[in-house]
Amino acid sequence: MKRISLLLVFAVFLVSVGVIHSELTRLNRGNGPNFVAGEVVVKLKQNTAITAFKALGALNLESLVSDRNIYTLKFPQTMDVKALIGELKKHPHVVYAEPNYIYTTDDFSVSGSGMVPDPDFPKNWGLHNTGQKDKNDQEGTIGSDIDALKAWVEQTGSLEVKVAVIDTGIDYKHEDLAANIMHNTGEVGEYTDPDGTLKHKETDGIDNDGNGFIDDVIGWNFVKNSNNPMDDYGHGTHVAGTIGAVGGNGVGTVGVAWKVSLLAVKFLDSGGSGSLADAVKSIDYATKMGVHAMNNSWGGGGFSQALADVIQAANEKGIIFLAAAGNDGGNNDKSPHYPSNYQFENVIAVAATDNKDNLADFSNHGKTTVPVSAPGVGIYSTLPDNKYGFLSGTSMATPHVAGVVALLLAQFPNATMAEIKQKLMNSTEEIKALRRKVTSGRVNAYYAVTGYEPPRFVPTDPSLWVTQEHKLSSPHDYENDKVYNWKITHPGATRMRVHFSKFDTEAGYDTVTIKDDAGGVVDTFEGTLDPLWSFEAEGNTIEIILKTDKYVARYGFDIDQYQYVIENTVTPDPTTLQ
Ligand code: CA
Ligand code: CA
Repeated sequence: MKRISLLLVFAVFLVSVGVIHSELTRLNRGNGPNFVAGEVVVKLKQNTAITAFKALGALNLESLVSDRNIYTLKFPQTMDVKALIGELKKHPHVVYAEPNYIYTTDDFSVSGSGMVPDPDFPKNWGLHNTGQKDKNDQEGTIGSDIDALKAWVEQTGSLEVKVAVIDTGIDYKHEDLAANIMHNTGEVGEYTDPDGTLKHKETDGIDNDGNGFIDDVIGWNFVKNSNNPMDDYGHGTHVAGTIGAVGGNGVGTVGVAWKVSLLAVKFLDSGGSGSLADAVKSIDYATKMGVHAMNNSWGGGGFSQALADVIQAANEKGIIFLAAAGNDGGNNDKSPHYPSNYQFENVIAVAATDNKDNLADFSNHGKTTVPVSAPGVGIYSTLPDNKYGFLSGTSMATPHVAGVVALLLAQFPNATMAEIKQKLMNSTEEIKALRRKVTSGRVNAYYAVTGYEPPRFVPTDPSLWVTQEHKLSSPHDYENDKVYNWKITHPGATRMRVHFSKFDTEAGYDTVTIKDDAGGVVDTFEGTLDPLWSFEAEGNTIEIILKTDKYVARYGFDIDQYQYVIENTVTPDPTTLQ
């Protein structure tokens, strides 16, 4: 929906200046990177005074990460940031210079204004899917969930595990979150009463732990540069509740982890957006606070070396960095989305699935760049002022994974970051429709904490396939805004697959879906591909669906053959049945 409206705006642009569509798609992704007027993020070779930049018109030099010489350099707002960056890159003291990008939450707005439905576990189809209807009355598929109920038998989490929610803040007073909010014990001051007794005080105007932040007892607000990271938007509170709304307290909902210490780090404002400079400070702060994992349900800026630097610093400390894959419906292998695309070991990008284990139509994906998916459509969680409600987005998928990571860290307290990541990846459930979309599959808390092997689909022995010549082509070029549908039936076949001799559609937007004869999705294709076989479908009929959007028609596809297997149906001897 969002994409269509934006593309209509850009279409006018297209006619007038003839921009090619690939550029248009790139521009459109994440609304295009925006940045703060008059501000540049720079890394300097050494501690440098502002006088070095006066000639360029600099007004102010503000330290972001002092031990890495990263600064914000401020100029009059009317100055051309791109031209300034060009000049700064030539400056002898500058290692790199980049715009102070603006990031936004990766969600869609709160559904309705209700926000106070029955506060209960059954609304969390992502935790335990019994086929219950979602908020739009759509029945789910039993088992399309992260198996939290089974995982909790083994592990419900620990307050020793610290997860930073780098977001719009957290309503840390929420009835279902307060007990899981991390308190910075190092910040508590001591004083002696007139009667001689030793007292403790959380806010004494002193930076007791010497981390550079005064009275940061429950985190920090980088928007207002204050010690109050209260959520004034709702997004961060929702994310926090999915990771760790208090379990077993008889109130409201429940997070993936019943117990976890959530660190509130606010850099996104009351409209859900924030700057690169504040993102850099937030990640640096959470790193220095010694968290085990960070949840980053935001994105949209361009590549930033400063952001890469602080994420790498977190990587060196063994801190897992979970990042929403983005909501443009695009392929991150081809058009990168940040911060989810940074290539450090600690970065885990998360795509969103619905209550039938289909990839959400808004979800970005990428076989190489998006390792996992998690529930992200119609997710029920906490909202400010003791409220609850539904949100959708890769923003909501990411905290499911953060929650599973929190359970893993509680179950394996001595494991390294690499081991935790390995356990997460090894325990995902293989989802047929996602096999070309994400590296592994949908996360599963039960297989993660128990270490049990998730069931894997066993492909047919290649020697059993029988080949049949069969020509089937889409129109060349296909038409925009259409759904084409073909079926190939081979009587008696128990499994089938088709071979594309040529395949060329608009990546991310014009998709071929393969279904088995029960209507289950077994494969999806998009983009320009070398000749290839589809994954196999059960039954004697294979269905091929081409769905195109309103823009850009390409060649389509040619199928030149299919293969089938006819297996003997063995009827077990009734006497051996137990
Ligand atoms: Ca402090
Ligand atoms: Ca609760």
